[in-house]
Amino acid sequence: MSFATRFAPSPTGALHKGHAYSAVVAWRAAQVAGGRFILRIEDTDFTRCRPEHEAGIYEDLAWLGLDWEVPVLRQSDHRADYEAAIQQLGERGLLYRCFRTRKEQAALARDGGDGSVFRGGPPELDEEAAFLAEGRPFAWRLSLAAARDHLGDLGRLTWIEEGLEPGLKTAVPERLGDMVIGRKDIGAGYVIASVIDDARQGISHVIRGVDLADMTSIQRVLQALLDLPTPTYRHHPLVLDETGQRLAKRKGSPSLKSLRESGMSAADLLAEFGL
Ligand code: GLU
Repeated sequence: MSFATRFAPSPTGALHKGHAYSAVVAWRAAQVAGGRFILRIEDTDFTRCRPEHEAGIYEDLAWLGLDWEVPVLRQSDHRADYEAAIQQLGERGLLYRCFRTRKEQAALARDGGDGSVFRGGPPELDEEAAFLAEGRPFAWRLSLAAARDHLGDLGRLTWIEEGLEPGLKTAVPERLGDMVIGRKDIGAGYVIASVIDDARQGISHVIRGVDLADMTSIQRVLQALLDLPTPTYRHHPLVLDETGQRLAKRKGSPSLKSLRESGMSAADLLAEFGL
């Protein structure tokens, strides 16, 4: 398979240095391999994505000196495909509805206690019927127990990691638990849409931050369930701020735009990254 990689931001805010690092690392990998660099806009969550952030992505990447294939795939144009996959998984008994609020989930979470690890299970049938009748919103979760019934031991699912801690990796999806892959109100989420598009776009190498490394296990399970190929993964370290914290849109980390406006050049930034 010829080399193809992607940068797949969600336009929910302005890009910061961490995004720049990820995009440049992926772009350079494509250059070195004589392969393709694909920009994909992961805008499935219409409650959080904004056109001005998408426009900002194009501006920032051009400023960094990158180029990418056009037309750019925008996930909002392909909702029907992700919904079809969710429906198919649902019909095979691999999903369940979760009516829990964020607060209730946080109370259920162990391991780090940040609420990101789901330790619950499907609702009781009578409870589910009552909530549905009330019209409560819900999320679709991928049942790892059901996935095991279909695929056998999930630890047999593997992929090659070429980035941090390289080697042949085995899936440990239990680390994240039964993940949300879609919502009644918003539709399919990043976890499944990304897997479908990595396959659709012939991505041979997923190059992304190590914050998504654990997600690979879940995505590997989805690849097995949906009969999609497994790319090679390269997880890179995260760019940290002066205090050693990771950057985040919601923490107000400076945007590339603001750095640019304060006089920083793309060359300055690459030098800072040691690239
Ligand atoms: N869209 C995801 C994000 O903004 C990244 C997806 C990926 O690289 O797999 O965090």
